[in-house]
Amino acid sequence: MTTFDANTKGIFVNGEWREAKSGETEVVDNPTTLEKLTEVSNGDFDDATDAIDAAYEAFPEWSKMSPRKRSKILYRAYELMMEDVDRLGEILTLEQGKPLKEAKGEIKGAASFLQWYSEEANRIYGELIPASREGNRQFVLPQPIGVVGAITPWNFPSSMITRKCGPALAAGCTVVLKPAMETPLSAIEIAKIFEKAGLPKGVFNLVTGKAQEIGEAFLTNDKVRKITFTGSTEVGKYLMRESADQLKKVSLELGGHAPILVFEDADLETAANLTLASKFRNAGQTCICANRVYVQESIKEEFSKVLLEKVKQLNVGNGLNDGVDIGPLINENGTEKVQDHLNDATDKGARILCGGTKWDGEYEGHFFEPTLLDNITDDMKVMNEETFGPLLPLQTFKTEEEAIKAANNTKYGLAAYFFTENLDRTFRVSEALEYGMVGVNEVFPSVAEAPFGGIKQSGFGKEGGHHGIDDFVVKKLVTISGKK
Ligand code: NAP
Repeated sequence: MTTFDANTKGIFVNGEWREAKSGETEVVDNPTTLEKLTEVSNGDFDDATDAIDAAYEAFPEWSKMSPRKRSKILYRAYELMMEDVDRLGEILTLEQGKPLKEAKGEIKGAASFLQWYSEEANRIYGELIPASREGNRQFVLPQPIGVVGAITPWNFPSSMITRKCGPALAAGCTVVLKPAMETPLSAIEIAKIFEKAGLPKGVFNLVTGKAQEIGEAFLTNDKVRKITFTGSTEVGKYLMRESADQLKKVSLELGGHAPILVFEDADLETAANLTLASKFRNAGQTCICANRVYVQESIKEEFSKVLLEKVKQLNVGNGLNDGVDIGPLINENGTEKVQDHLNDATDKGARILCGGTKWDGEYEGHFFEPTLLDNITDDMKVMNEETFGPLLPLQTFKTEEEAIKAANNTKYGLAAYFFTENLDRTFRVSEALEYGMVGVNEVFPSVAEAPFGGIKQSGFGKEGGHHGIDDFVVKKLVTISGKK
């Protein structure tokens, strides 16, 4: 099994690995066993400023490098990641807790963004616009925006990084990354991969450490022209407010509250399997995972019976062990939040069909049993706030109109799903759902080739697809006066 040094350097600035200037470190523990894995540099404002300076210095050369050369380096990074899936997956499970199979899946997904953007680097096209003034020529030149400050969460510690850094680097930007302090080890591995792949010094910089201070360095330093953030809606709003002062370009991938609608014409087995996959993947700690399920009244009994049997079969335990489906939550706050949503629901009349308690197994970590709830009312917290844990409420609806209204009744707008075998309904409901992403008989929208992102208070900006490049380029109009 992978072991770690007592101290791990988490600051990578201008091609050099180092400790925090203050000498401070922060413990990283294993959420399954609560044992200490290592201590990582606890960087601050000064470390972040050094990293920004390095990225700023590296920008002119990197942005002018031919896309082909940038592409080659990104492709090499993709290859290095794929060659090391087993070890990287294990590190991810150790620091984050998700089952190894999911962790390896995440590493492959993370690598796929590097592959995709190594290809997209070659296809950042401009535009030639026919001029109304005779003789003039005008064209639109896409150029990299400059230094990017990237902030990522702990729930997908690898893929959230490459989904941002892939397009940023492909476009010719330089990057300072601040990963979540719960999961800095995957970020450190990615920095090593970029180093090994031949990324020039200063093009990618990493600062593990104090969120508030590193964030402040990004927000107050004019050299940072773009902030790309994945995390909670609350922190996203703060970053947007504070970016206003220097009018930085911002993109925000924030929280969600995904509904699943199961219509009476659905294939129930598929609907149950995918509801299970959507809700309980990563122990329910996924921004796009189902937070509430609405089932048409006529099939409610049958559907909940099928789903209940499947939920009962989920194995909770150490993600490194074979056959484990559900690992721990990331920390105690995580289990407390699930417990709070559960208590609130049962106080208001919900019935527990299975689970309903913290897992009392052989590991010390932050486990919660997969839980299914019935007798749900719309005023319950679980129907309105992101639960981020393995708790699933089953609500019913009578008509399609009622289902759409309920699904849209939220401040979030990230992902929504529905199950039907009816073609007309597929179009009608897809068009009516107010979400950035809709899945029809499908619950996994995050792939390298397609634009991922929300609307409403789930944020804005797209990651993935050729669209992912847009957030990292500015478009310059060049007008040339000429004779006919
Ligand atoms: P979070 O508390 O907002 O933290 C996310 C990142 O922001 C972490 O790196 C965190 O650092 C940093 N951060 C916190 N406060 C900051 C500040 N004042 N200034 C600068 N950075 C700051 O969110 P989380 O609890 O880690 O992640 C879960 C949330 O992310 C959920 O709401 C989930 O839905 C959302 N999410 C969204 C997507 C998407 O694509 N839409 C994907 C994944 C997750 P520390 O960890 O060091 O505090």
